[in-house]
Amino acid sequence: MSYKQIKNILKLNPNSQNIIVKGWVKTFRANRFISLNDGSCIENIQCVVDFETMKSEILEKINTGTSLKIHGSLIKSMGKGQNLEIKVTDIKILGECDIETYPIQPKKHSLEFLRENAHLRIRTNTFGAIMRIRSNISFSIHKFFKEKGFYYVNTPIITGSDAEGAGEMFKVTTLDLKNIPIDKKNMVNYESDFFSKETNLTVSGQLEAESLAMGLGNVYTFGPTFRAENSNTSRHLAEFWMIEPEMAFYDLNDNMNLAESFIKSILKNLIVECENDLNFLKNRLEQEDKMKPQKDRNELNLIERLNFVVNNDFEKITYSDAFEILKNCKLNKKKKFKYIIDKWGVDFQSEHERYLVEKHFKKPVIVYDYPAKIKAFYMRMNDDNKTVKAMDILFPGIGEIVGGSQREERLDVLKSRIKELKIDQKELWWYLDLRKYGSVKHSGFGLGLERLILFSTGMTNIRDVIPFPRTPRNAEF
Ligand code: ATP
Ligand code: MN
Repeated sequence: MSYKQIKNILKLNPNSQNIIVKGWVKTFRANRFISLNDGSCIENIQCVVDFETMKSEILEKINTGTSLKIHGSLIKSMGKGQNLEIKVTDIKILGECDIETYPIQPKKHSLEFLRENAHLRIRTNTFGAIMRIRSNISFSIHKFFKEKGFYYVNTPIITGSDAEGAGEMFKVTTLDLKNIPIDKKNMVNYESDFFSKETNLTVSGQLEAESLAMGLGNVYTFGPTFRAENSNTSRHLAEFWMIEPEMAFYDLNDNMNLAESFIKSILKNLIVECENDLNFLKNRLEQEDKMKPQKDRNELNLIERLNFVVNNDFEKITYSDAFEILKNCKLNKKKKFKYIIDKWGVDFQSEHERYLVEKHFKKPVIVYDYPAKIKAFYMRMNDDNKTVKAMDILFPGIGEIVGGSQREERLDVLKSRIKELKIDQKELWWYLDLRKYGSVKHSGFGLGLERLILFSTGMTNIRDVIPFPRTPRNAEF
């Protein structure tokens, strides 16, 4: 007989059938009650031992963290807290756990402590729930695009162009760092490097995705992305996962609508498919809220927040209108923002984005038509020659969750933008080719997977929604 996952056992009708389970002990009480979890769901299964017949040398080895294989029969539980339990007939210790040093004791641990023990934190309820939700969201993303007729494409992780300008890059090299070859101009000579040119880890697959969209129609990437920005915030990772759809024939409006329905569809799935994990996190947040002063508490609980996003239209507003709101708001006039909003053209900081979302509109906001000066070279210039067809989606508690745009499809305009920004045009020869050979209107966006998971789980630090976070001065595990 093979073992069953606990999530499937919990759906069975108990009639003393034989059952085998495998998992890790959460708690072991009164030499009798083993609470076992196998990661398949947040619930544990209670296994009841008859300590008079069970060998004591086995019982002695059972602690929190021990891994077990248990044989028994599934019966209705008389106790409180569960409907089913396993009446144990045999226990095999798979791996003992040194309870003296095991960091994950059955008590509440701080998130900071768990980050230092990221290799074991997955055994806590909180991290089990987060990682199951992460998996659910990833799968829903593929499902959404498949149903919409998009193709999943893979763009390079090692790139030769640094034209995107989305952030600081990590260098990729096989040069001997103790003996770096220098050219006549006293610059690094990459001739003898692996690729005979300077290469980096990708900050975005967009430019290559555009090339693929110009033949496949609608495509998306879903892969690791690297940014060496030294900003130690709770929303930035040095290695994160980004989803970048790119659509031929889409304008900015189509792009915004797709992004909105995309996010809604993922959250809708999540609410249905991860009910128990979400409920656990909802309760966790409510406990946390109780420790905060009234004014800092969340008005809606986690599940209400998800439903709110699913059921309400996002607010769409131009940069210029958002600028007026921010410029004239009380916080700005009283100089309560760290960065004062005064001149049209300034970039919004996270504090401004959150004001728009949390205080002013009280729902997700899409800001579009940004000043060209603060956006990338490839964004479609508007007729005013001042703004570009860019859009950012802003979320409560997070700020920017999506950044996207309609792309400049006109060769001459694109070239003059590249010149203006003093980007090396040679590097972009292939990107410009796309505008020479059957260029069409097209658009796309990037969604940071971890930012969406932050919102979905109610967690507040991005280090807690990826298994092994990479941040400045931290690449443990
Ligand atoms: P921010 O202003 O928050 O740094 P950005 O403007 O640099 O974001 P984009 O270049 O538009 O972001 O990237 C698209 C999306 O990727 C963002 O909306 C965000 O969800 C996500 N993202 C960007 N940088 C990071 C990061 N360092 N860690 C995690 N997610 C990120
Ligand atoms: Mn950034």
